[in-house]
Amino acid sequence: MSKGFLPYGRQSIDDDDVAAVASALRGDFLTTGPLVAEFERAFADKTGAPNAVACNSGTAALHLAALALDLKAGEGAVVPAITFLATANAIRMTGADVVLADVDPASGLVTADTLEAALDRGKARGIAMRAALPVHLNGQICDMAALAAVAAQRGVRLIEDACHALGVDGIGSAQHSAAACFSTHPVKAIATGEGGVVTTADADMAARMRRLRSHGMSHDAATFTDRKLGFDGETANPWYYEMPEVGLNYRMPDVLCALGISQLKKLDRFQARRQVLAAEYDRLLAPLAPAIRPVSRPNEQHGWHLYVVHMDFPALGTTRARFVKALREQGVGSQVHYIPLHKQPYYRALYGEISLPGAETYYERCLSIPLFPGMTERDVERAVGALSRILGAT
Ligand SMILES: *Cc1c(COP(=O)(O)O)cnc(C)c1O
Repeated sequence: MSKGFLPYGRQSIDDDDVAAVASALRGDFLTTGPLVAEFERAFADKTGAPNAVACNSGTAALHLAALALDLKAGEGAVVPAITFLATANAIRMTGADVVLADVDPASGLVTADTLEAALDRGKARGIAMRAALPVHLNGQICDMAALAAVAAQRGVRLIEDACHALGVDGIGSAQHSAAACFSTHPVKAIATGEGGVVTTADADMAARMRRLRSHGMSHDAATFTDRKLGFDGETANPWYYEMPEVGLNYRMPDVLCALGISQLKKLDRFQARRQVLAAEYDRLLAPLAPAIRPVSRPNEQHGWHLYVVHMDFPALGTTRARFVKALREQGVGSQVHYIPLHKQPYYRALYGEISLPGAETYYERCLSIPLFPGMTERDVERAVGALSRILGAT
């Protein structure tokens, strides 16, 4: 990088990735082929998960996991207010209700306390609370042992939204949860354009999600219920399939799995690079405290999906909009992750005005600055230089 506009995140695609895709394109399969299972095996190995199910987005991954828990209308799931729209939308797509949890204003993470408060609110509204979706925001890992203890006590299942946390040790092994969901969108840890993966320790859940991702169809003769249509004597008819429940087309194409396999081989290198760049930010930003502070990190583990700073813009005599514009003029991109979900017109209309002060405080202060493996140390200097100049001018 170093010259030109520095975006807040971007993919790293090399010649070997291009070659892997070209080779898949020349093969026999564009969509479901042998590379899907190969990508799933590589993903399971990398995350330490017994099962990995590939699909065509992180949103699809979340939806498949929610469907596999049989979430439905009249039931509810807790979602933190600071996350991408898809975490909550995946629950709404099952017909179930979303009960938004507040977050720690310093880290943006859902905690055992805010989870319990949300479960209580759901119950008070007469919703049968069935699940909760902790989000490993920015790559910071939620306190899963504490959340799992609350979940066990309240009889709710956990689905991790791990879209920010691929590459963090133990994440995806689904040790404390029913499933963990990942995205391979270009700004995430590895890129396939669009893509997603669910990992789970539960083999039945994995089989169900594989069926749901392809129209709800089963080709497994052992599951056929109609002997007359399905069999010729003892032999299953080769064209026959059964649909025991309605499904979707959430299949990940073979061509994109080729890219995923190639990208996964570089995950460790990408993560190491993100860590080096984050440490460089920490070092260079230290003199700008307390005006600019890295967002609080309650846990040691970090996937460094985003480098987020907190700033009290009004106290600095500016607005975030002015600050973002000035950064852009200096060639430095930034983004805000995320607008609290209870402020979205859809959720406002559905659930009314609610107050989640932790989420509101986190949102007002946060700014994501450039972080991706293709950046150089000079790029970090450039970004911090721009921040420092703008601060000096406010
Ligand atoms: C990216 C992301 C998603 C959705 O993933 P897509 O692949 O874009 O559908 C869901 N949750 C979080 C936290 C994300 O960052």
